[in-house]
Amino acid sequence: MMQQCVICHARFTWKQVSKSLWLAYKPIACTNCGKLYKVQFLSRILASLLLVGSIFAFNLVSYPTSTQAFILAVLVIIPANILVLPYLMRYRLA
Ligand SMILES: [Zn+2]
Repeated sequence: MMQQCVICHARFTWKQVSKSLWLAYKPIACTNCGKLYKVQFLSRILASLLLVGSIFAFNLVSYPTSTQAFILAVLVIIPANILVLPYLMRYRLA
């Protein structure tokens, strides 16, 4: 579930959060009241762990793997992370 603004309870949108991710965890402004939010340090760690971890885990379970299979997995894992990560990211009032 997407995080809510603590002031006005407006929910962040997936688009807002993913845009923040792409722009190196750029702070998010609530679309309703304009309060500024910064990404939590732990969420940053989680984001990199998930991305690196899922590729690493795939590599382990599918060993021995061909280069093509690995590239295919990366092509699936990365978009899956991009899709899911905005739901997991947590922000705090700036
Ligand atoms: Zn708000």
